Amino acid sequence: MIWIHSELGESAIDLVMRAMVLDRPGTALVLREGPIPQPGLGEILIEIEACGVCRTDLHVVDGELPHPKLPIVPGHEIVGRVAAVGADVTGFARGERVGVPWLGATCGVCPYCRDGRENLCDRPLFTGYTRDGGYATHTLADARFCFPLPNGLDAAEAAPLLCAGLIGWRSYRMAGDAAALGLYGFGAAAHILAQVAAGQGRRVYAFTRAGDKTSQSFARSLGAVWAGGSDEMPPEPLDAAIIFAPVGALVPAALRAVKKGGRVVCGGIHMSDIPSFPYRILWEERQLVSVANLTRQDAREFLAIVPQAGIKMHVTRYPLADANTALADLRGGRLEGAAVLIP
Ligand SMILES: [Zn+2]
Ligand SMILES: [Zn+2]
Repeated sequence: MIWIHSELGESAIDLVMRAMVLDRPGTALVLREGPIPQPGLGEILIEIEACGVCRTDLHVVDGELPHPKLPIVPGHEIVGRVAAVGADVTGFARGERVGVPWLGATCGVCPYCRDGRENLCDRPLFTGYTRDGGYATHTLADARFCFPLPNGLDAAEAAPLLCAGLIGWRSYRMAGDAAALGLYGFGAAAHILAQVAAGQGRRVYAFTRAGDKTSQSFARSLGAVWAGGSDEMPPEPLDAAIIFAPVGALVPAALRAVKKGGRVVCGGIHMSDIPSFPYRILWEERQLVSVANLTRQDAREFLAIVPQAGIKMHVTRYPLADANTALADLRGGRLEGAAVLIP
């Protein structure tokens, strides 16, 4: 796509798309306009209603993830309407509401794709990282990796489900059948997952930055039986813990908090270095694992439980042009729940 600097007036808005574009990691996103693209083979054109702001977007913008497509339109928690359908697309009609997640395409033929682990595909495309994403009025997506969404959902409240919800869900399943579950980092993913886990009868222990009383009371309001600083030990040993904050020092902290045979799941795509720790906190069959990406099966499972789970979404809406402010607020820990851009 060829971008031109924004100088068209409001009257031209239907003819052009607008997007917040990253030219180079470490620089601010820039508002650009360009012609609305036409969907190619297997693609749908989506008119975006809302796009969530995920911590992974920060890692892309800050240059912590290697080899992004540049320039890139970030954003992989997209909710919108099908505006046009390309050749060979079945199952989607104009006007239908769809969601687009992080997993944008897979090769379909590598060993991981063949044995049902497409989240580990050798040649994937990721929305908002290696193909253009949702910080825009319009986007193209591979129809095979889009999901129908109910019309009844509020678009802004649905957007964070597409990554914070989905990756949270994959992490949760990876944590196993834990009656006492710790969540380290109480942002967008944990605020969804705490409600799902509490609803399923798990005892949720929420760990925030030390002294962050606001996030701790937010966590308790969403069903956590205890909330405290990540430097504290929970009142009972945990069966499993999920780390959402990109802070390597939380790995030994979580290992110390889980009981024998317990599991620590790292749910993020990037983390600061993990400090060395004594073997005895891993011993006794504690396990440390990471979660990467999602499969379409994860998405189908999670989206199917959403209507019954009664999840209350906490979102802060920003106009599309304020994407840099939304990213800064996420970086600074100034958000309760999830940030969402509205074009
Ligand atoms: Zn593959
Ligand atoms: Zn994400």
